[in-house]
Amino acid sequence: MQVFKFGGASVKDADGVKNLAEIVKNYPSNNLLIVVSAMGKTTNKLEELHSAYLKNDTRALAILEEAKAFHFQIIHDLFEDENHPIYNDIANTFVEIEWLLEEEANDAPDYIYDQIVSIGELLSTKIVAAYLNKIGISTLWTDARNYIKTDNNYREANVIWDKTEQEIQKQLLPLLNKQMVVSQGFIGATSENFTSTLGREGSDYSAAIFCACLNAESLTIWKDVPGVLNADPKWFDETEKIDQLSYHDAIELTYYGATVIHPKTIKPIQNKGIPLYVRSFMHPNEPGTTITDITSPLPVPSFIFKVNQVLISIFPKDFSFIMEENLSHIFNIFHRNKVKVNTMLNSAISFSVSVDGDEEKIDKLIKDLSEGFKVKYNKGLELVTIRYYNQQTIDRVTVNKKVLLEVKSRYTCQMVIKEK
Ligand code: ASP
Ligand code: MG
Repeated sequence: MQVFKFGGASVKDADGVKNLAEIVKNYPSNNLLIVVSAMGKTTNKLEELHSAYLKNDTRALAILEEAKAFHFQIIHDLFEDENHPIYNDIANTFVEIEWLLEEEANDAPDYIYDQIVSIGELLSTKIVAAYLNKIGISTLWTDARNYIKTDNNYREANVIWDKTEQEIQKQLLPLLNKQMVVSQGFIGATSENFTSTLGREGSDYSAAIFCACLNAESLTIWKDVPGVLNADPKWFDETEKIDQLSYHDAIELTYYGATVIHPKTIKPIQNKGIPLYVRSFMHPNEPGTTITDITSPLPVPSFIFKVNQVLISIFPKDFSFIMEENLSHIFNIFHRNKVKVNTMLNSAISFSVSVDGDEEKIDKLIKDLSEGFKVKYNKGLELVTIRYYNQQTIDRVTVNKKVLLEVKSRYTCQMVIKEK
């Protein structure tokens, strides 16, 4: 049993879908599960639609039309026969959003988000499965919501592992024994059968869940990069591909913000000792990166950049010590505002954190913190993490930069920096 995951960039147009077919046709016709994300930037588009709908903005309909046009162009390029059932199938899938838009936005925003945004994955997988069948690769489309069971923490739902494993073993495994199967990443269902999503970029995680519950022999994530690199080519001209990576380093790199794989992906497959291959869908014959339980450290220092950071420093108003009296209260406020801490440092009477600069969330967070603490903050910063750092690598990233905060452990150095 193998699990493949194809992300939005790999199926951003008709050629992408054809390329996916070229890759999977070389594999056996059963015991292969193909997990697919929404096509191209569809999830962003549906997020825009969700915001417009909540604001009662009439642009919602226009955004929906754009999403439709994008998908119909792709099916037009893949299926000459306009009577092919996929045309109706896709039109009907969009009707679900249309129904929603006709009503007032009365439900909780995160619940509505999941009902709208999940449609992206339903569309993409229907198109991919129909195309594979059209060219003679017999494939079954199946709804991931039958298997991935979650709580109702909409937009960032938590997997209910025992139920999920049970459904996958009972319902999905027999299908896979007969045939190649295509299903969605990112989406699941609550116990009341409402659609939930696992958090942005969560399709990798879905693939890992399927993989672990199927006891698959491997997971392959097909990417637009040759494998895991030691830095994002967006920020670095000279990057190096890492051939072999340990689960441990992979978890650390993704935790600190390496976007090549979703941070939650590694744990489920590590628990089962399943290897993860990160390979290029553009060069499918290249080996890419293999992630296993090897113990050797990364061969090269790795750099992870996060832009648009806000450095927040929090001081007790009464000069009490930060550690004993205040930390749990502070963390509660972060948790309540759903703000994730990217790095932190404390002194006797202050506590500093770097967080993503999501305007709305941060304004609210600072307001809440200010009720009990003195708060100072600095926006528009960068957070650099170097795994296996040395002085030379630190110098390389701090040229013409001012370091506002530095946290070092044995293997990892994190710096919040600002343009001079
Ligand atoms: N389509 C979702 C997103 O863009 C999930 C994924 O791509 O992994 O966030
Ligand atoms: Mg995506």
